[in-house]
Amino acid sequence: MSQTAQISNQTRRWQEMDARHHVHPFSDQAALAKKGARVITHAEGVYLYDSEGHKIIDGMAGLWCVNVGYGRSELAEAGYKALKELPYYNTFFQTTNPYTAELGERLAEVTPDGLDRFFFANSGSEANDSMVKIIRYYWSLQGKPEKKVFISRKQAYHGVTMTAASLSGISAMHPQAGLPLPNHAHIDFPYWYGMGGDMDPNEFGVHIAMKLEEKILEIGAENVAAFVAEPVQGAGGLIIPPDSYWPVIQEICHKYDILLHADEVICGFGRTGNWFGSHTYGIVPDTMAMAKGMTSGYQPLSAVALGPRVGDALHNSGEEWSHGFTYSGHPVASAVALANLDVLQKDKLVEKAGGETGEHFLKHLHALADHPIVGETRGVGLLGAIELVKDKKTRERFEGDTGGLCRDHCFENDLIMRAIGNTMVLSPPLSITKAELDELFTLARKALDATAKDLGAM
Ligand SMILES: *Cc1c(COP(=O)(O)O)cnc(C)c1O
Repeated sequence: MSQTAQISNQTRRWQEMDARHHVHPFSDQAALAKKGARVITHAEGVYLYDSEGHKIIDGMAGLWCVNVGYGRSELAEAGYKALKELPYYNTFFQTTNPYTAELGERLAEVTPDGLDRFFFANSGSEANDSMVKIIRYYWSLQGKPEKKVFISRKQAYHGVTMTAASLSGISAMHPQAGLPLPNHAHIDFPYWYGMGGDMDPNEFGVHIAMKLEEKILEIGAENVAAFVAEPVQGAGGLIIPPDSYWPVIQEICHKYDILLHADEVICGFGRTGNWFGSHTYGIVPDTMAMAKGMTSGYQPLSAVALGPRVGDALHNSGEEWSHGFTYSGHPVASAVALANLDVLQKDKLVEKAGGETGEHFLKHLHALADHPIVGETRGVGLLGAIELVKDKKTRERFEGDTGGLCRDHCFENDLIMRAIGNTMVLSPPLSITKAELDELFTLARKALDATAKDLGAM
């Protein structure tokens, strides 16, 4: 939507207020203020509606989070009930509340075995930040306080607070704030299509996993606290690891006594076709971060799950643990998370993401591989990536921002598909129907055609 189009006075008024006062995340402020932000006014199912009456199919489930879809009254009513009964009380003063107490028990039923203690926070960044403090404390309790270095991956996204941004490996996130902080290292990630060359994917997976061992030996295992990674790297380009990758990582962590933290902020709550990405890839993490799909984005809520090793050490430390947020274990967010779990379970959304919905999604996704500008399609559960290339054989890219071009064509056609460099990504609500998937992929192909025409490739 450009400011030259006819727009209503109401929309213009919102845009003006926004342009004057709202600092937007990950945006060029002045450029956006000039263009005018799109005003999303309501949403239902898999559709967003803007203030100009456009109905937009949301292929990204918000920011990878609205797993149950928009407009679920069960979640709204659970939140309303909690707001009336107990809008807030803290969990610092030797107190808890019914919602948070029950949430821990319900989460323990769906997380991988042993991960059954939860520290609650409000965002994925806070969960990862808290994890770093917990793990540093853990090693200190073991008499190994020098184990402080966190190894994560290039192009990883773990959030934006000072520590979470340092864990992140997207290099554009670092220079403006002089990051990363000390004690962070980044290794290559298992991006076969972009970096695998002639290697067989599984051979490549082992090759990249071995980079962890190289890095540990370089830093000294006695200095390394943990390896941090998403089961499937999301914002860093939707990187689906070859099957060979995770078993080797797991073995290396074990061999050098390095803790393994799985950032499940995107992969959790059904996204990869199982409750957690750790289930899909057979990972046994020591700690796990969750957020996004935990409430389907209806409330801000996150958690760090602790396995027995770290959990028992913290539990039995014999002293007060000096950490916690005002809103840790917030009753309203917890109530909404419980209702979200109810919907995921009642509607069998996780099973469907790993079954009929996921299969239909992947069938459509892979059908795009024959498109003249598509080099590779890859997907798992309800995550999908489409690589845009100029030359399918050599994997050569077009000049310029091809992803941005394609994303804008999607936007014009009322589809939200995200561009990460030259990779288009999809992560629709798990509640999406087959008919809605048909519609989504019709629009996606239309946008690819329009992009190819612009580039003279069709
Ligand atoms: C979104 C995201 C985060 C950060 O979560 P916020 O709630 O935005 O702080 C962390 N890790 C991963 C994998 C994410 O996708």
